[in-house]
Amino acid sequence: MSQVQKQLERRRTFAIISHPDAGKTTITEKLLLFGGAIKQAGAVKSRKTERHATSDWMKMEQERGISVTSSVMQFHYRDRVVNLLDTPGHADFSEDTYRTLTAVDSALMVIDCAKGVEERTIKLMDVCRMRQTPIFTFINKLDREGREPIELLDEVEEVLGIECAPVTWPIGMGKRLRGVYHLLDDAVHLYEPGKNYVTQDAEIIEGLDNPLLDERLGGDVAEFRDEIELVRGASHEFDAEAYLAGKQTPVFFGSAINNFGVTPLLDAFVKHAPAPRAHATTTREVACDESKLTGFVFKIQANMDPAHRDRVAFMRVCSGRFEQGMKMHHVRLGKDIRIANALTFLAQDRDSVEEAWPGDIIGLHNHGTIAIGDSFTEGESLQFTGIPNFAPELFRVARLRDPLKLKALQKGLQQLSEEGATQFFRPMLGNDLVLGAVGMLQFDVVAYRLKHEYNVDATFEAVNVQTARWVRCKDEKMLRDFTNQLSNNLALDAAEQLVYLAPTRVNLQLTTERWPDITFSPTRETV
Ligand code: GDP
Repeated sequence: MSQVQKQLERRRTFAIISHPDAGKTTITEKLLLFGGAIKQAGAVKSRKTERHATSDWMKMEQERGISVTSSVMQFHYRDRVVNLLDTPGHADFSEDTYRTLTAVDSALMVIDCAKGVEERTIKLMDVCRMRQTPIFTFINKLDREGREPIELLDEVEEVLGIECAPVTWPIGMGKRLRGVYHLLDDAVHLYEPGKNYVTQDAEIIEGLDNPLLDERLGGDVAEFRDEIELVRGASHEFDAEAYLAGKQTPVFFGSAINNFGVTPLLDAFVKHAPAPRAHATTTREVACDESKLTGFVFKIQANMDPAHRDRVAFMRVCSGRFEQGMKMHHVRLGKDIRIANALTFLAQDRDSVEEAWPGDIIGLHNHGTIAIGDSFTEGESLQFTGIPNFAPELFRVARLRDPLKLKALQKGLQQLSEEGATQFFRPMLGNDLVLGAVGMLQFDVVAYRLKHEYNVDATFEAVNVQTARWVRCKDEKMLRDFTNQLSNNLALDAAEQLVYLAPTRVNLQLTTERWPDITFSPTRETV
């Protein structure tokens, strides 16, 4: 077995999808705790606070109670190397989440047992379904009164269109919570409230018929045995193949905050979740065990650490081995660059990485030459596909308090747009700068960051633009005529590509009908 093969088979790269408040942060913390990456519960939260205290623009995150950033955490569990890619929960940052989902091999869906399937979960699940991403499900907050477990599974099946295979089953709920029964291991994990176990759940009793269970559960035991009988008869059995095909989700119950039910989840996860798989490119499929390095950038983030004041491009390694100091081929630019100080993301700190393998994420320092969707190789000209680029739906024009700051404003908008959450346009006529985004909150974030990172006081005001189309045409003369006649509605984006800013949908329709040989594309071409 090659070294690449050996290393990639240990890798499990995944993201957590959930509606805000379902418990994503809490479960992340417990996974890191059980993975030995952090020593005590509370570390993730305090890390958050620390970042708030030091990083200005994240104060917004605190004020609004949302998570605007996402990061990558690597930890070891048993013989596996687990990469957990965090995703922002707020809907205005969904593009970022969607792109992160292109860089994972599987996902963990967290559901609040009292709320069931919520709106964000439905959207995220749609993205996973498109890519047949295998999904584990954790139904959280069992220590609270929630809905009937069977009802929750029905809802997941109906609303999310995925078959459920319960792996653990709750014994009671809320104040009556006694434990969970592991249907595959035939073992009962008892729940002892108030105990904060560090590496494992409470007492485990082997076998449903074990007399110890009668002792521990007392009078309720017969009823519980009957229930399990029923559940076994009425639900799907776990089928590893159906799970890997994205058709079935194994379901676990627990209470993240009480460290309860998390170990069975993690144990099954590292056993069954898929190792890295092949990735499609414009020219061929890249197998992950190929010896030459390939990877793609799915995310760019600024100021992860204010002490560094930099922008980091996150690259998912798809094949081969990355080694510090090696040369990588930047396919879009057709240039080789030496990578001397790539970052890896251990649970708490950014560290220098010596090597990385398929499934791992590395952080590349970016001074504006790396864009989302960029591919890196050892020389081959291939471009990974499937990294979505979103059409902005909301537009605002930037207004400066101090007109002398125009250059700084332009630089700020350009750099912030590289992160992919917003896109900025320079209309061909006039000096206005127009910003496009998918969510309203993006404008506030940009205004805040312009002020704190670029010292530019700008506001964003309504502008007569409803939608944008990237314009392409093979016939140069026609494109010139088009540009001359419609310069009022044309702009250049950050990459100097021509964009038609339509004031209304009707206008867009009329224009496309009038210019049938011109292509109006809703997203920017990445290749
Ligand atoms: P996120 O928005 O999905 O990251 O959710 P958090 O992890 O921040 O959790 C949201 C709230 O639910 C917090 O107040 C947590 O303390 C609480 N919470 C998380 N897990 C549990 C649980 O198992 N039981 C109870 N009762 N509360 C929980």
